[in-house]
Amino acid sequence: MAEYSQQVNNSLMWFRQDLRLQDNQALAAACEHARRSSVSFSKSLNEPSNASSDLSQVHSQQSAGSVRAVYFAVPKQWQAHDVAPIQLDFIERQLNVIASELAKLGIPLDVIHVASFEEIGDVLAQYLDYWQINKVFASSEPESNERLRDENIAAQGIELALFDQHCYLAPLSVRNLSGDMYKVFTPFAKKWREIAKQNQVETLAKPAAIAAPLAQPSEINLRCNKRCSNEWQVGEEAAHQKLRQFAKDKMHDYQASRDFPAIEGTSRISAYLAIGILSPAQCLQTLLAYFPDALVNDDSPGRCWLNEIIWREFYRHLLVAFPRLSKNGNFNLLANNIDWRNNPQEFQAWCEGRTGYPLVDAAMRQLNQTGWMHNRLRMVTASFLTKHLLIDWRWGERYFKQKLIDGDLAANNGGWQWSAGTGCDAQPYFRVFNPISQCEKFDPTGAFIRKYLPELDGVDLKLIHKLKIPNQAQLFDNECYFSPIVDHKFARTRAISQLSVMKRGS
Ligand code: FAD
Repeated sequence: MAEYSQQVNNSLMWFRQDLRLQDNQALAAACEHARRSSVSFSKSLNEPSNASSDLSQVHSQQSAGSVRAVYFAVPKQWQAHDVAPIQLDFIERQLNVIASELAKLGIPLDVIHVASFEEIGDVLAQYLDYWQINKVFASSEPESNERLRDENIAAQGIELALFDQHCYLAPLSVRNLSGDMYKVFTPFAKKWREIAKQNQVETLAKPAAIAAPLAQPSEINLRCNKRCSNEWQVGEEAAHQKLRQFAKDKMHDYQASRDFPAIEGTSRISAYLAIGILSPAQCLQTLLAYFPDALVNDDSPGRCWLNEIIWREFYRHLLVAFPRLSKNGNFNLLANNIDWRNNPQEFQAWCEGRTGYPLVDAAMRQLNQTGWMHNRLRMVTASFLTKHLLIDWRWGERYFKQKLIDGDLAANNGGWQWSAGTGCDAQPYFRVFNPISQCEKFDPTGAFIRKYLPELDGVDLKLIHKLKIPNQAQLFDNECYFSPIVDHKFARTRAISQLSVMKRGS
């Protein structure tokens, strides 16, 4: 007696901060799961045998299951968590690209709007029921709310396979000899390189089509507050092109040029990493294609850029190891005792680039106008806010998030706490960047300042660098440049005194 058994695996790919088709382990696994669907045919021994026709019957009935994809849009949550309108626009544009690419593979992408983050589990369960899907595939996320959401979904009985691909080395996999998470970057980076060099970097190609191509999808609209991000090309090819171009032309000189905001000496791929158009493995693979010794040779010209990729990993590992960081807690608990001044007018002046310190103001205007800021300037402006103005780093971190196209909780939190001296392996509280000498050192030709502060046109560069700008007296007068919001020496002494609550043993 012949028996047919059939197992159809319908998969769901849940896109999150991994908006790419290449090197997406979750998407590859979703496709693989569907392909493993099978129809098998067996019969009892006393039946007449006709092996070839049996086999062809089995073969002809083997059908892959289906793959669908979803993206959850949560505009209220984005607003509550200050996701920058420019980043949302970038996400929407990239979603349109991948929806079209997925359609060619026979995979429909549904963007599902939900009122709140908490609703996602129930909406997902209904969706799975409706489409008869038995397994969900997604990338893990390091933030604590997101991890809790996934735990709740798994507790609902939904089979959720998570892939740790927001980092090259999975969070918590880089530990010291006692098995703990490193709290200092240099030994973390050393161990990270030791582990990374054990295996060849491998990345996945785009999956093969799972079914016949679908009609081109209609335009996706995230229905949220957006700001045009057209300056940043979307699509995986554009991102790889940018990365390769940087590796080919600029990586060699990165160490020497990366601190000068007037020079385009850095890769500008942070926006692509933040929403996952590029994976960390792809970045490492490209780096090693040009500088194969970067992992093993301290003097490799690729080493400096590699270290920045490792900083990104460090902050993500910390977020997982210390969940209070996701909730904006100080890493250094002594920092809970800081009496921040939190003057709202001064905060507003900082946001708008009206502090009277040219480098700080030009940087803030770069952020406001373009949605991106050079790393050196992120450090200078964050130090100025937290140390010169003694404003809580969380105010600045929130403002950055509201504006940055590359807004990323781990890197932003890490960068702010590093600058404020409250973080893990942070700059010590008594080190206060001098915004005058930083300006002279890192914008020696004044090209950057002049680009964003046209009111300084015609002012002698030496006067700008020494902060001896004429007509600076009229604070907040739009006709001329502002007088400094606070005297540097006074602010420095005040900061060291106020922040000394973080002195060990105090
Ligand atoms: P490159 O210099 O080319 O570096 C390559 C990649 O390494 C970057 O794209 C980024 O992914 C990573 N990287 C570089 N520097 C750091 C760093 N210090 N910490 C973590 N990762 C790093 N980066 C973000 O991606 N999102 C943020 O929200 C963010 N906020 C920051 C806030 C502050 C106060 C500070 C000091 C830094 C912040 N950074 C943030 C880190 C860094 O400034 C940016 O990653 C970098 O300027 C992006 O430019 P790039 O792609 O040209 O970097």
